[in-house]
Amino acid sequence: MERTLIKDISSSIGKEVLVKGWVDVRRDQGKMVFLDLRDATGKVQAVVLPNHDVALLEAQKVRPEWVLAVTAQVNKRPEKNVKEGVINGDVELEVLAIEVLNEAMTPAFDIATDGYEVGEEVRLEFKYLDQRRTRIQHNIRTRHKVVKYIRDYFDAENFIEVETPLLTNPTPEGSRSYLVPSRLWPKSFYALPQSPQQYKQLLMAGGFERYFQIAKCMRDEDTRGDRQPEFTQLDMEMSFVTKEDVMKINEDLLIKLVTELFPEKRIQTVPFPVLTYKEAMEKYGTDKPDIREDKEDDNLLAFCWVVDFPMFEKTGADNVDGTGEWTFTHNPFSAPQNSHMNDLLDKKNIGEIMTSQYDIACNGYEIGGGSIRNHNALLLRRVFEIMGYSDEKIEKNFKHMILALSSGTPPHGGIAWGLDRLLMVLLNEPNIREVIAFPKTGEGKDLLMNAPSPAPEKTLRELKITFT
Ligand code: ASP
Repeated sequence: MERTLIKDISSSIGKEVLVKGWVDVRRDQGKMVFLDLRDATGKVQAVVLPNHDVALLEAQKVRPEWVLAVTAQVNKRPEKNVKEGVINGDVELEVLAIEVLNEAMTPAFDIATDGYEVGEEVRLEFKYLDQRRTRIQHNIRTRHKVVKYIRDYFDAENFIEVETPLLTNPTPEGSRSYLVPSRLWPKSFYALPQSPQQYKQLLMAGGFERYFQIAKCMRDEDTRGDRQPEFTQLDMEMSFVTKEDVMKINEDLLIKLVTELFPEKRIQTVPFPVLTYKEAMEKYGTDKPDIREDKEDDNLLAFCWVVDFPMFEKTGADNVDGTGEWTFTHNPFSAPQNSHMNDLLDKKNIGEIMTSQYDIACNGYEIGGGSIRNHNALLLRRVFEIMGYSDEKIEKNFKHMILALSSGTPPHGGIAWGLDRLLMVLLNEPNIREVIAFPKTGEGKDLLMNAPSPAPEKTLRELKITFT
């Protein structure tokens, strides 16, 4: 017999079906056993009656989370037992035979709850069990829908998705990069990308004009609040555009995505308000303001753009680059605003130079940021000079960018959204770990796979790595 998915059972009333799934709950009443069965599509109640004695013996053995193949008759529930508004609330399975496909240890925690009450370490260690709970199933399935919506939207707008390398050289994004030792080139290292920033600009140099990617980014940050060492961006870049063009298409996508996939949500103001950095700081004391009228309303989304940021700031104690007096505030590849071009060229009034950067915030979280880029090689060179880079250092690290910009790169700009953070806000979750299938702890540990971990001696020898 072919398998029937649990969501489709009610169309088989009066027929025999084969259902495969997990035991969600088991209630043994001696003479009969109730089993709530669960598969990826839903739940259904099954009852094993005394007249099916072989099945009853089997049902008395099974435990929660065992995997079963159940042959059963689909019966309509008596009127008084119908559960309105619940999938299969009007039907019940009368079990004819049970085949145990796999047994299960007693789960480390209850998976019938929303899981917030369970210690996070144990949830992460047994993440596959945690994934079985309804809330996490919903979050990860919604994530898939959001990603698919984004892909379809950009495809329809003539963007193409391009995969950029994971083994590369460091990109300055204000954090440390993870390094990967090369076995074939001892003492040399790849870096994992902090973002596809340089590659997406090179794709504009390569003539693709409209690029996007659901991109993994890796940043070796100190454990700071709700961060993950690897996270996902919706990264995009376009040629021949103004900052308004990039903001408009991203705003349009966000509005459509929310309206279609989260109909219960209300966007406070459309078009999204645009605040200057100065206004945001003066009025809200932060550059990711929470402008909600009603902070108690879980379904209110208050998006806003923040613009007119200074381009440079004095180097702070946490500067990972450690080169000069000044560093970039957001992105070294950003262009200044037009009226500040000459100051950048002359390296004058550095603290007053404004960048073309635009950030997007929602309910007090920064969910994205981007800019129009310097497509003029001299301007990019000036940025690095202001940051105290020597000619040799510029040559060594950014020769490819200078050459590309000198080889007919069109004007271009883009943005990246923090996809995990956006999903967290859309799903009303308290942190991004709840919307990631396999998150790491706040301290950057993968408790399921036990990473990071010491490398075997043989591997270290092959890599010519010794510890002192
Ligand atoms: N690469 C930038 C970031 O990761 C985003 C952008 O400017 O497109 O923040």
